[in-house]
Amino acid sequence: MRTLSEITAALDDLYPRRWAEAWDRVGLVCGRGGNSVRKVLCVVDVVPATVIEAIEADCDLIVAHHPLLLRGVSSLDPAADYKGDLVHTLIESGMGLHVAHTNADVAAPGVSDALADRLGLVDLRPLRPLDGPEHEGTGRGIGRVGRLPDPLGLAELLERAAAALPPTAGGLRAAGDPDRLVGTVAVCGGAGDSYLADAAAAGADAYLTADLRHHPASEHLSRSGPALIDAAHWATERPWLDTVAEQLSRLVDDVLVSDLDTDPWTLHQKSGVN
Ligand SMILES: [Zn+2]
Repeated sequence: MRTLSEITAALDDLYPRRWAEAWDRVGLVCGRGGNSVRKVLCVVDVVPATVIEAIEADCDLIVAHHPLLLRGVSSLDPAADYKGDLVHTLIESGMGLHVAHTNADVAAPGVSDALADRLGLVDLRPLRPLDGPEHEGTGRGIGRVGRLPDPLGLAELLERAAAALPPTAGGLRAAGDPDRLVGTVAVCGGAGDSYLADAAAAGADAYLTADLRHHPASEHLSRSGPALIDAAHWATERPWLDTVAEQLSRLVDDVLVSDLDTDPWTLHQKSGVN
């Protein structure tokens, strides 16, 4: 039987906190180090539904991608805010919470490796490599660029991506000539519009990420950049839960992965159609 301290130490080895962005807040959020960990639930978001899922499954620890508490708080009043309520629920249930966010984004294997694997990309390299002697030649960094063993048209790649990613109400949308031949693909799990220029510089024919906004996408396309595929944020990060679950299963017998779609969008309707 492993203690929470042992699991946290293992997660910190896989996803060192120093790899996280300066603004990020990662690592152990709550839980006593001496508590036993028999069962773990891996989630993208710590929201009421996933906390209930962990409690109902009798877990002792939630490993989450997104931080529950990113900004400073001065109160955890459970009546005033759902986050205060969630922290109370976690502690009252004896549930630990550990977060691996931007430190998991840059790890190798990390969030974007799992996404690239789902698409069948090979010969992966970072879209924006991590700087520094510690990272040289490790493949660590933001996003991934890889090759489709057999090039596909953009519309076919969109179809493949839709089949490979978990279901969400919004599905996927693409920008570009549907027949454009795609051999090299850049991906970035989560919000990736800051890396549009990196995808173009990497020679990608298409870039798959989430949360693409009108102006950056439109300006990027006007500069003849790679075709774009925009997926739901949750769907691009959910594949990594399988990676971390597999890593944790070397320490804990029972590791579950949440398939609860925590993307905020729940309905989709094609417009202009009667
Ligand atoms: Zn994210």
